[in-house]
Amino acid sequence: MKLRLFLALSTLLFAGQALANDCELEISANDQLQFDKKELTIGADCQQVKLTLTHTGKLPVAQMGHNWVVTDSDQFQAVAQEGMTQGLDNEYLVPGDKRVLLHTDMIGGGESTSITFDVSTLEKGGDYTFFCSFPGHWAVMKGKLIVE
Ligand code: ZN
Repeated sequence: MKLRLFLALSTLLFAGQALANDCELEISANDQLQFDKKELTIGADCQQVKLTLTHTGKLPVAQMGHNWVVTDSDQFQAVAQEGMTQGLDNEYLVPGDKRVLLHTDMIGGGESTSITFDVSTLEKGGDYTFFCSFPGHWAVMKGKLIVE
């Protein structure tokens, strides 16, 4: 009886621990080619991160699509430039591009999308840039992803 209680308690404690390491990040984008954040930080205790992108504008995806793409900072311009010709069906990214570490779906006004990823995908202290790969947007819609 006592052992069973102990096991139940430790299961609860373990579940609490796992929750503490699940982190959530939120970013929004609008019809004025702006993300609401220039920097996102993944805390040192995070293991899984859920990132939610919300498009607070009204324009459709074909006209004002936004996504959230992460690459090493020194790769981002090349990835964005090569992606421009890939079309909306490919979300303006070269299919299977290994330089793309993370990306959400591309969405239009009023929509939101999220991805969950393991922090081990990234290196602590790495130099990462997030951006929107829609043609032309990446010139202004970009920021730093910091992994503590
Ligand atoms: Zn965009």
